Amino acid sequence: MRMYDIIEKKRDGLELSKEEIEYFITEYCNNKIPDYQAAALLMAIFLKGMNERETAQLTDAMAHSGDMIDLSEIPGIKVDKHSTGGVGDKTTLILGPIVASCGIPVAKMSGRGLGHTGGTIDKLEAIPGFNTSISREEFIRNVKEIGIAIAGQTGNLAPADKKIYALRDVTATVNNISLIASSIMSKKLASGADRIVLDVKTGSGAFMKTLEDSVKLAQAMVNIGENTGRHTVAVVTEMDIPLGNAVGNSLEIIEAIETLKNRGPQDLTEVSFELAARMLELSGKGSFEYCLELVRETVESGKALKKLAELIEKQGGNTAVIDDYSVFPQAKYKLDFVAETSGYIKNMKTDTIGVASLELGAGRETKESIIDYAAGIYFNKKTGDKVEKGDVIATLYTNKEEKLSEARDLLKQAIELSESQPVKLPLILAYIDNKGVQLK
Ligand code: URA
Repeated sequence: MRMYDIIEKKRDGLELSKEEIEYFITEYCNNKIPDYQAAALLMAIFLKGMNERETAQLTDAMAHSGDMIDLSEIPGIKVDKHSTGGVGDKTTLILGPIVASCGIPVAKMSGRGLGHTGGTIDKLEAIPGFNTSISREEFIRNVKEIGIAIAGQTGNLAPADKKIYALRDVTATVNNISLIASSIMSKKLASGADRIVLDVKTGSGAFMKTLEDSVKLAQAMVNIGENTGRHTVAVVTEMDIPLGNAVGNSLEIIEAIETLKNRGPQDLTEVSFELAARMLELSGKGSFEYCLELVRETVESGKALKKLAELIEKQGGNTAVIDDYSVFPQAKYKLDFVAETSGYIKNMKTDTIGVASLELGAGRETKESIIDYAAGIYFNKKTGDKVEKGDVIATLYTNKEEKLSEARDLLKQAIELSESQPVKLPLILAYIDNKGVQLK
């Protein structure tokens, strides 16, 4: 087989065989195919596309390029949840304990922040002492003992994706549905779950900016899951506005704890409960409506909050954070972002808000950056809310005083006021499974 012929075939819009796809992945990972040929093929895929079979086979080959985590030692059906990334998205910290306290094992491998979006692992590390680098044995043991473990992804999970993603990043080939879907799903397949719930974010803070593209991405990922033997469903959720009021690591953990105390913001509660109920439904607990009721009961009874405390304790964290938020690292500096005129918040450029939070220290500018866990933004007002001149729209937190004015300027660009009240969009926009798409 020759890489030249594979590139030529895709350039001419023809379908690649399973053998050709596997040859590309294996030989590229073995450094037998140079970057310029891999880049040429990626561009041909970008321009000519891949069908459902090719996309599933590419994903499977990428998943098998490294470790395939085996969770079979853990009894029961393992359901994973994956978000395509957003601002203020802390749903894993809420739905993980909920699902685990309903008796469904949660063996969750999570990522760190990427660009303007946050990551669960960074958030958990805001809890003093919490260890996200537990061994595979400890990970499995914890799930068996308390029903939940959340750890960072191990080094050798889908290495083909790491290599290809780095190449796509510099060859203008990131934004293709088959390539994004195979990249995300290869890591999910390698993580070992039996079933997968996807939270595909849509809007200014998301990777996919329009509902149409988000639904297409969701369909592509559901098809991959179904074609590789992992029952998969997707929910498309709103990311034209930060999820919840808190953006930044400690602030988000506090908000997740508040939500498990049943006094979290309405939008965060709704999305977290929806996803938790979908996970329970997928694991065979019953109808969606029944599962949603179960989720509510689990939170109202305090069972889910207790499970979070068990998770924190098991992974070495200080459980005092549950009742005493002063245990979290505190920011030395804060600044109120005040409304200059009266009106309604018309629009929030959510990616810019993510960048403002990153500037304050909540994310990484380079791989080496050290996160300021206390940094972030807390919103008192969001899209659709009425504000009077002088109202505090948001408060900025940081340990680097010089970053406050830069972040405030970004917020000024991000938040638009208008005289008339804008229409509030629903949070859950679509549900996709192997039967099709339901727009909400
Ligand atoms: N996230 C991923 O993991 N891969 C992509 O291609 C895009 C987003």
